[in-house]
Amino acid sequence: RAKTLGRGRYEVFNETMREQVRFIQKLESDLRRALERKEFQVYYQPIVNLQTSAIHGFEALVRWNHPQRGLLTPGHFIPIAEEIGLITQLDWQVIQEACQQVYRWNENRKNRPPFVISVNLSAKHFTEDNLVEQVTKILNETGLESPCLKIEMTETALLEEPEKVAVTISQLKSIGIGLSLDDFGTGYSSLSYLHRFSVDNLKLDMSFIQTMNSEPQSFEIVRTMIVLAHALNINAIAEGIETAEQLNTLQHLDCPLGQGYYFSKPLPAENIQQIF
Ligand code: C2E
Ligand code: MG
Ligand code: MG
Ligand code: MG
Repeated sequence: RAKTLGRGRYEVFNETMREQVRFIQKLESDLRRALERKEFQVYYQPIVNLQTSAIHGFEALVRWNHPQRGLLTPGHFIPIAEEIGLITQLDWQVIQEACQQVYRWNENRKNRPPFVISVNLSAKHFTEDNLVEQVTKILNETGLESPCLKIEMTETALLEEPEKVAVTISQLKSIGIGLSLDDFGTGYSSLSYLHRFSVDNLKLDMSFIQTMNSEPQSFEIVRTMIVLAHALNINAIAEGIETAEQLNTLQHLDCPLGQGYYFSKPLPAENIQQIF
């Protein structure tokens, strides 16, 4: 094959591969340094009660303040962190910081319901043995009550070793932590998961929310998922609400919770504090 491509192209191909390898190696050493120097920063996006507009809580979304490349969103580094086995460390930093922050916010809300913080856990965690101990440790260290912490997982996390994952989840639930199924409807959605893993929140993927007012099929999917969630006593959370029209539709469909740029983009803690 290389022969038919000619010598020149073969070399170019090789050079591109070498470049890719160097790029990944650089990113890997950058990631290690970033973990040590705490270059990751937690951004917070409000999760809002759609009927009252009150802030129910926040989703913690990580950002990387890269010294050369500037502020990076998770799409630029989470897949690589997963690949090279650094994601668990990264997630622990995020959860630790988020729990500490929300504990502080809740201290000033003694007469009002406490905020709930949702954190994203990579699928990798759910087959590790010490997940529940780690979470317990963080709750003890930060003082946050377990009902104030929600763990978001995607459907892929349920696929790998379902038995093991089921045990981990029931342990998390037994210490009072809620579970959100993220990006619902985009993966290998199995309705039996909802019951089997006693899911507390169903996050309706933004791809449905953003097309429901133009595509009747999306609308029907959103409507049905909300009805289903109600019937199973699960809170539906609409993701990616960007317009008043979308909010209006969701209110009519009786969707209890939502998040999106219409309310607020994810922001650093200092900026989020100014909106509540
Ligand atoms: P996700 O958990 O589904 O988070 C929602 C994503 O939608 C976030 O992207 C958020 O910024 C974005 N978003 C929120 N509202 C709107 C909207 O109205 N319009 C649009 N266009 N986008 C909106 P982000 O922050 O880039 O995060 C992407 C994904 O990275 C997350 O998807 C989550 O799967 C993952 N992620 C984020 N933080 C962490 C983390 O600390 N640990 C792990 N393991 N994964 C994380
Ligand atoms: Mg999420
Ligand atoms: Mg999502
Ligand atoms: Mg997502």
